[in-house]
Amino acid sequence: MQDISRCFPATPKGWQYELIYKRIRHIYFRIYPDKRTVRISAPTRISRKALEHAIQSKSAWLMEKMTSPGNAPPPFNPLSVMKDRFSCMVWGRRLPVVRGTCHARPGICLSPESEIIIQVPSSFDPKKEENLWNTWLRTLLNERIQMLLEEWQPVMDVAPAEFRLKKMKTRWGSCNTVARRIWINTVLVHLEPCLLEYVLVHELVHLLEPGHTRRFYQIMETHLPDWKASDVRLNKIELRQ
Ligand SMILES: [Zn+2]
Repeated sequence: MQDISRCFPATPKGWQYELIYKRIRHIYFRIYPDKRTVRISAPTRISRKALEHAIQSKSAWLMEKMTSPGNAPPPFNPLSVMKDRFSCMVWGRRLPVVRGTCHARPGICLSPESEIIIQVPSSFDPKKEENLWNTWLRTLLNERIQMLLEEWQPVMDVAPAEFRLKKMKTRWGSCNTVARRIWINTVLVHLEPCLLEYVLVHELVHLLEPGHTRRFYQIMETHLPDWKASDVRLNKIELRQ
């Protein structure tokens, strides 16, 4: 097929276009914030001119989408931006924080519109609010780990005695193979769910093969063939902060 990549409109730094031809009748544009990619699906029989025209006419819209905060890819660094007063990263998405001051019990919940609603008295102690956040985020993490374990344990035929959560500065997860205890870094709740899954599966594999041996990576490959992409992604995040 013709190379029209030179006609693509400019992108913000780090973004790229991907053009694929399919047996379809119309052109479709799809934004993948996590991959910083705009995928253009075009009919196989489309002329170069028509394709160029369609892409050019969409360029302002595409630029707007790529730069919109909702489509911003999760930041790699620094970790402190994963949560501030106005937003919080949850499973790789930046969600707005809406504050209420009702007199009910202090609490945090997720609205159906994916807003994080925090209800605390106006003079609430910041330390207590921090605890509230930690408890809520740990609950989310716990629930998803539980779900992942239910999925992976039968597949891998392995079960940890327990898993625990900890904010760690040097690793994403660890496994005590004697106690069969898995530790998961609490920061993972801020990142894409596939990264938690990778860390958990990695630690489960240690229950089958303690060291990072050839066999370890063979097992890893069998269960999560795309584990390397997750590994690269996690290595880019600076945990020591
Ligand atoms: Zn390991």
